[in-house]
Amino acid sequence: MNEYARPSRMKVDLGALARNYAVVRSRTGANRKLIASIKGNAYGHGAVEIAKFLAAQDVFGFWTGSLAEARELREAGITTKIIMFGGYREDQIPLLLANDLSPTVFDDRGLAAVAAAAGSIGREISLYVKVDAGLGRLGVSIQTAFDFVVKASQTPCVRVEGVYTHLPFNSDPGEQWAKARYALFEKLLSDLARRGINPDITQVWGSSGVLGGLPDICNAVCVGHLLYGLVPAGLDCDAAQDYVPILSVLSAPIVHIGSVDQSLRASAYRGRGGCSSGVIGFGLCDGVLRPRGEHKFHALVHGRRVPVIGTSLEHSILDLDCIDSPQIGDQAILIGHAGQEEITVKDWAKWCDCTPLEVLMSLSKRTTVEYRPA
Ligand SMILES: *Cc1c(COP(=O)(O)O)cnc(C)c1O
Repeated sequence: MNEYARPSRMKVDLGALARNYAVVRSRTGANRKLIASIKGNAYGHGAVEIAKFLAAQDVFGFWTGSLAEARELREAGITTKIIMFGGYREDQIPLLLANDLSPTVFDDRGLAAVAAAAGSIGREISLYVKVDAGLGRLGVSIQTAFDFVVKASQTPCVRVEGVYTHLPFNSDPGEQWAKARYALFEKLLSDLARRGINPDITQVWGSSGVLGGLPDICNAVCVGHLLYGLVPAGLDCDAAQDYVPILSVLSAPIVHIGSVDQSLRASAYRGRGGCSSGVIGFGLCDGVLRPRGEHKFHALVHGRRVPVIGTSLEHSILDLDCIDSPQIGDQAILIGHAGQEEITVKDWAKWCDCTPLEVLMSLSKRTTVEYRPA
């Protein structure tokens, strides 16, 4: 624990992570390889601790887009395969190889750069080819992917270990589109197989495909959202109920109890506040988002829901009129359960008109994370 840390705390429940992992495993079948997406600091939950926990399960590897975070994993002693989605410059490829990370390539330039770096260290490097099946994201286009994979597989000093694409969706039409694009990817894999190219790892589906139970001929899935108990926006179906958010608590202690002058209140604060205020050490610098429209932020104090009437850079102000004798040191729960009440990441997403993932990304690294063991 950092003794200089700010007062707020996030609790991440590794037991919930273990349960989500088991549900994903039961949906994908044991003979599929599972790659855990830990990009974006493990979707805001802390890449090192999440990866340490998952490395002890039967995870095949981690996918990330941050060279710095990948290095932190290696420094923490994690030896599991780490595949870089991208997120590095060509001149960083030697660093990537020095840290035993697997590069992704999707154009001639990237392929040549990896081959040159591999040649200079005199070691064969396993790489992954990313195919763009129509989203316009990173990837060699599905139309030219066959030629590119053949070329990569004939390039000295490199070995094509994996071929993957990404077809996330968040609506029924999106699912139909993803299935149609998947058919093209399946044809690519069959064409490659006929040419004698059978990569160790083939992958198309992430959380939305796993949630929808979509069939495929790939031998791996790469899942992020579901492991963290996040359901991709728009896919709140019955199967989604099996996944529990692993962020169980976000809290900050009340550091001051004040009173709001009634004539000032209306102009300084959002909505009608009360007379008694509580100040917590959690503000914009910690990632509080701004509520949209008529929405208001709430927190839980003594098991009761209280409005958040204002937010400054370092603090937020709670309306404590309905709380009997609030005390300095009482915890304000910003996300989590208290008594009969609960505030979820989804509530925050609704208040701010954004996705749960955007909420998690806004919670800055300034809040100390405590991990509850499984
Ligand atoms: C992020 C990512 C995933 C995981 O997506 P989720 O929806 O979080 O499961 C899978 N594949 C690729 C290529 C990705 O970039």
